[in-house]
Amino acid sequence: MNDDWNTRTRMVHAGIRRSGYGEVSESIFLTQGFVYDTAEQAAARFESLGPDEFIYARYGNPTVAMFEERIASLEGTEDAFATASGMAAVNGALTSMLKAGDHVVSSRALFGSCLYILEEILTRYGVEVTFVDGTDLGAWEAAVRPGTKAVFLETVSNPTLEVIDLQGVARIAHGVGAKVIVDNVFATPVFSKALEMGADVVVYSATKHIDGQGRALGGVILGTREFIRKTVEPYLKHTGGAMSPFTAWIMLKGMETIDLRVRAQAEGAQKLAEELSGHPALGKVIFPGLDAHPQRALVEAQMEGPGTVLAMEIPGGQEAAFRFLNALQLITISNNLGDAKSIITHPATTTHQRLSEEQRSVLGITPGLVRLSVGLEDPRDLLADITRALEGLRRQDVA
Ligand SMILES: *Cc1c(COP(=O)(O)O)cnc(C)c1O
Repeated sequence: MNDDWNTRTRMVHAGIRRSGYGEVSESIFLTQGFVYDTAEQAAARFESLGPDEFIYARYGNPTVAMFEERIASLEGTEDAFATASGMAAVNGALTSMLKAGDHVVSSRALFGSCLYILEEILTRYGVEVTFVDGTDLGAWEAAVRPGTKAVFLETVSNPTLEVIDLQGVARIAHGVGAKVIVDNVFATPVFSKALEMGADVVVYSATKHIDGQGRALGGVILGTREFIRKTVEPYLKHTGGAMSPFTAWIMLKGMETIDLRVRAQAEGAQKLAEELSGHPALGKVIFPGLDAHPQRALVEAQMEGPGTVLAMEIPGGQEAAFRFLNALQLITISNNLGDAKSIITHPATTTHQRLSEEQRSVLGITPGLVRLSVGLEDPRDLLADITRALEGLRRQDVA
């Protein structure tokens, strides 16, 4: 591996570990254990692990290590730990570093399961959590205190695509010695500048853009070697959140094309957002790449691209939103994102159903809001599908 190589080159070659057969494509080391030449070698390995040595797949595996090295190379961190799912990564990053009596400040606009960990699980073990409106720097400032160990946020919120000033939050957090942990799915690994903006730990659900083809669940925690090996690894290797070698292979191959895929999907999303803005059958269109996005300057400063997800308001509430979804012929109704296939979701009745109506309204999740994850199809076909479904709504409303 050459550190001077550019991103796309590194995404094809970083982390490769070849076996004695000299295979071109990365091998799936589908083994839970590793043999030792002698009893002395086993004893030595249990005492301290060399850089390319393994003892048990819950602790590490060559295919998993290849994926970890490749994604760390993309994010620009020293190290990474791969996990069984995005939620195992979020839980691992938080739980491994917190103890009873610690304080955490978190943005309120979170993926449902992240909210559950912070609100229901950590608090059960004596961690105090304060929720703030993530876009209000004054609220972060007021919430942190000397005992604050971590702040947690999604830089781009789901599904309303509000952007949090990461640099501002990091300055406030670091002022009291707290670590900044970012769940970065919506920013995508390709467009992320989280480290540069002050994040200490970056977490991804690999289920999204990293796989990008809807096949496997996975996650990853990225940070300094010290944090990953001294804090995260001891927690995860003993509690069993490891990524399977087969999943790691899927994710590793996903990394070869992630730059091409995410850029093409973002380009498609940009085209759709521009074409659909102002459509007479549509309320507002929200996309970080639009000039009309309320935090356009922040988007430009802290993301290298606008992401692959947009949100749209269908006038007429849930009934009209459902009619619109049901009228689509190409775009599928599902709840994943970052996939090669374009996927549409009605957040109020699916991903954010658990929230109260009041909580949804605070987060801007209205009954007419739909979330569209733009895939790799030709944007012209996607646009035709959407406009045809919107025309159907209009005709029914007139009739
Ligand atoms: C999907 C997602 C997760 C959870 O990831 P899984 O792989 O489904 O466990 C966490 N955070 C965000 C922002 C997500 O989009």
